[in-house]
Amino acid sequence: TYVVNEKCIKCKYTDCVEVCPVDCFYEGENMLVIHPDECIDCGVCEPECPVDAIKPDTEPNLEKWMELNRQYSEVW
Ligand code: SF4
Repeated sequence: TYVVNEKCIKCKYTDCVEVCPVDCFYEGENMLVIHPDECIDCGVCEPECPVDAIKPDTEPNLEKWMELNRQYSEVW
């Protein structure tokens, strides 16, 4: 699954949302998040993010953000 990190905070771009084939972006408190169970791991959003805030969960030190992505996306 892909994960949105702190670089997204207060970012106003939504390029990622527009390209996601399964619409799994949700609005968190001050950032966008990816629903970890809905993301199909296609990777299309990663290069679209102008601030480089989207990473695959295989990258190190993303535990906190994985938690937050799940938390914010399940509010809906
Ligand atoms: Fe959507 Fe694909 Fe990005 Fe997952 S990797 S959030 S399915 S665009």
